[in-house]
Amino acid sequence: MTHKITLIPGDGIGPEVAQAAKRCIEATGVKIQWDEVIAGQSALLKTGELLPQSTLDSIKKNKVALKGPITTPVGTGFRSINVAIRQALDLYACVRPAKSYAGVRSYYKDIDLVIIRENSEDLYAGIEFEEGLEPTKALIDEISRLSKKNIRPDSGISIKPISKSASERIVRFAFEYALANNRKKVTCVHKANIMKFTDGLFLNTARLVAEEFSGKIAFEEAIVDNMAMQLVQKPHNYDVLVLPNLYGDIISDLCAGLIGGLGIAPGANIGKESAVFEAVHGSAPKYAGLNKVNPTAMILSGVLMLRHIKEEAAAMKLEEALKKVLSEGDSVTYDLKPDRQDPTAAGTKEMADAVIANIRR
Ligand code: NAD
Repeated sequence: MTHKITLIPGDGIGPEVAQAAKRCIEATGVKIQWDEVIAGQSALLKTGELLPQSTLDSIKKNKVALKGPITTPVGTGFRSINVAIRQALDLYACVRPAKSYAGVRSYYKDIDLVIIRENSEDLYAGIEFEEGLEPTKALIDEISRLSKKNIRPDSGISIKPISKSASERIVRFAFEYALANNRKKVTCVHKANIMKFTDGLFLNTARLVAEEFSGKIAFEEAIVDNMAMQLVQKPHNYDVLVLPNLYGDIISDLCAGLIGGLGIAPGANIGKESAVFEAVHGSAPKYAGLNKVNPTAMILSGVLMLRHIKEEAAAMKLEEALKKVLSEGDSVTYDLKPDRQDPTAAGTKEMADAVIANIRR
């Protein structure tokens, strides 16, 4: 069967890592017809739009996309094109596995965590009121009237909506993910002691969903600040973590740190209809075009994508080939070498070549 998949190379280092991942995926023998479309600065230059409708239409039609990182230009209407894509396609579940690979230097060994981050609401809803403007003053007055609490008149305000329905679907996703992937425990991470009506709602909803899975998947609760410390001290005590949007963003970077950095942290944004696979890292503009950065996060995002399209054998082949390159430590990029100045470090393309050679071996 030939899969139709949207490919968005992205900005900065995006085209290099996307090309590396695409070549590795193709080397597994899986049949893919790529529909290459643009978003971000490259799209702005060509079409005058950061996120052309044709790009969204391609993902909607194909239902699966592999996406390179996109630079968010400062001073435009968009907060982030990534957030815009997630919202436009209702990609409500962000899945970020954090797994140790032999050969990748880290303070920790044998980390195997999965972060499930709610992707559609919370402080990422983009509902903000700028300090000093009339609507902000009116909102401050109204909140003070309703809550009987004072907000300083020179405040800016960001709104944090958390709904029962979005909390329910993300927690259900986390439990179903745990069941399908042979995981043992889901930890709900929150700050419900302070934000009773938002994080409190998230937690209460999680407790209800957890009851449905009782006896199959264990459930645990953790306050986000304590979770940050626990992850640094005892990361092996955790398995699948489910979090509201902002905490999910922060904790997944922390977890990327546990396994050796952003260069090796993959991700997926999944909705009922479509899914977009992308590395956790950004477009690292200073490395653009240098054939220098690590393609691992993007290749591992490709592994997640292959699993999503039910090409398990190809996914395993690709992950095993990559593991071998990482553990041998020869054909790896500068960031994976003990000395970052090591002149023998491979380029992005050459590391992908080594993975492909292993697939074909
Ligand atoms: P970044 O992840 O692009 O870079 C931070 C640093 O991490 C880099 O300087 C580099 O040292 C390291 N790094 C990142 N990827 C690497 C790789 N593959 N190999 C080796 N080292 C790597 O984060 P930033 O500098 O905060 O953001 C740059 C741009 O990317 C911004 O415009 C931001 O909005 C955007 N961004 C996009 C996404 C996305 O598209 N999903 C995610 C995060 C940031």
